[in-house]
Amino acid sequence: MALYVHKYGGTSVGTVERIQDVAEKIIQAKRAGDDLVVVVSAMSGETDRLLGLAHQVQERPEPRELDVLLATGEQVTIALLCMALEVKGCAASSYTGAQARILTDAAHTKARILDIDTSRIRRDLSQDKVVVVAGFQGVNEEGHITTLGRGGSDTTAVALAATLQADECRIYTDVDGVYTTDPRIESKARRLERITFEEMLELASLGSKVLQIRAVEFAGKYNVPLRVLSTFTEGEGTLITYEDETMEEALISGIAFNRDEAKLTVEGVPDRPGIAAAILGPIADANIEVDMIVQNVAEDESTDFTFTVHRNDYPRARDILDRARDDLGARKVTGDDRIVKISLVGVGMRSHAGIASKMFRVLAEAGINIQMISTSEIKISVVLDEDYLQAAVHTLHEAFELDQAPAA
Ligand code: ADP
Ligand code: ASP
Ligand code: MG
Repeated sequence: MALYVHKYGGTSVGTVERIQDVAEKIIQAKRAGDDLVVVVSAMSGETDRLLGLAHQVQERPEPRELDVLLATGEQVTIALLCMALEVKGCAASSYTGAQARILTDAAHTKARILDIDTSRIRRDLSQDKVVVVAGFQGVNEEGHITTLGRGGSDTTAVALAATLQADECRIYTDVDGVYTTDPRIESKARRLERITFEEMLELASLGSKVLQIRAVEFAGKYNVPLRVLSTFTEGEGTLITYEDETMEEALISGIAFNRDEAKLTVEGVPDRPGIAAAILGPIADANIEVDMIVQNVAEDESTDFTFTVHRNDYPRARDILDRARDDLGARKVTGDDRIVKISLVGVGMRSHAGIASKMFRVLAEAGINIQMISTSEIKISVVLDEDYLQAAVHTLHEAFELDQAPAA
């Protein structure tokens, strides 16, 4: 008998009717003779609604209280899904993260899973029940409710699959797999049959929100067979796996983008040892994460220093730099929070020169100005004005022929 972990995202459980449809799907899978552990998200829009309520009451709510609030979203769904299953004659029991003993660290709103005690889940499975677990949440050592960061239900599902040694972890969502880029932005995006953990990790960390980064990390580390598929249509979806000979020999597997960044520039700082540390030190002290960093070559004795941060941190970062400007001996601080980072990702890049220059050329031919560039072994990222997002993705998708399956 096989054991599967299914995960249904917010849209898939967005209404009572959809929850009933998910119940039907689960019953069909159960009829095939498999054991099932099901992880669900909050109904679509619910997490945002709860966040909105919190911010109406307090500008910067305590993370502990935020977690108590946000965890209610998933709790609603587990109970409703179990009721829908019971109505259809299928025995099921629901568990919040704490009830399922998903132990996390104490980092409220972005906690990491440390351990799961699966004894209760196994007992229920042995009694032929469907086990329904609330995604996105756990409990820390002191018994406080924690949440795992946006999109965290994916990670709950993968962690359960790893601990239970499930045969496959199936992430059911509103698209029928992982595409060459977000199909909402590019109509010619193509579904991939397989993608490597390495590439998926890169896509996720560069902004493709189809899977939470930590879920991919976890699946890679514990070798959990992971598949993304549609709740609403039949199909094989996309398997995330280790590289093997049968994989498509693609140069580029996908294009990711991130609209959540902002850039800051400190202009005319003296070009001397320690200046980068002097600029970024106070930013780090304020717990603001920095992504891309570019320091220009000095022409006179001074240089410009540019970096990007999460858009939510932009006002704070700007404030810190404005205050530090005189101490730094800088001429001016400027910034822009209407940027987008677009990245080409592919393990095939390793062995091919010329991808970056082609990327820059096609963007230039489309009249798109590149503001920043960064590269690593399997990705090239550029920062552009936000207005160019769609045009740039489209241009790159076409130029690198991502709509066509690579020749075998
Ligand atoms: P869920 O609520 O089921 O967790 P998400 O909204 O988190 O769903 O993730 C699914 C969405 O991810 C899709 O609707 C799609 O717009 C977006 N997405 C971004 N990049 C990709 C990609 N490369 N392939 C597929 N979907 C993508
Ligand atoms: N409900 C949470 C969110 O909206 C977690 C999830 O859906 O994965 O981010
Ligand atoms: Mg998601």
